[in-house]
Amino acid sequence: MPNFCAAPNCTQKSTQSDLPFFRFPRDPARYQKWVENCRRADLEDKTPDQLNKHYRLCAKHFETSMICRTSPYRTVLRDNADPEDLHYSFSFFAPWCHLVQHTLKGEH
Ligand SMILES: [Zn+2]
Repeated sequence: MPNFCAAPNCTQKSTQSDLPFFRFPRDPARYQKWVENCRRADLEDKTPDQLNKHYRLCAKHFETSMICRTSPYRTVLRDNADPEDLHYSFSFFAPWCHLVQHTLKGEH
């Protein structure tokens, strides 16, 4: 079974690329932050255990400084790493960025 990224609008699958995927943390303070940043209502009533077992986020949603490659086969997140706010990075910010870049290119 490939892993799917839990972020809204992210279509990364573990079989398609060598991007690392990270499980949801079990730590209550942290998993809530992850759920919050995912902005997915359906994740809000999952238990930390369910999230940890079944949901993952791909490395695209983390700052590169938060990701450590401990060996060629193993990539881990730093203990305090939280994903970026996915609502901003996908639904709002990314399309907006794209539009601006497009407009700027058109002017030159
Ligand atoms: Zn993703």
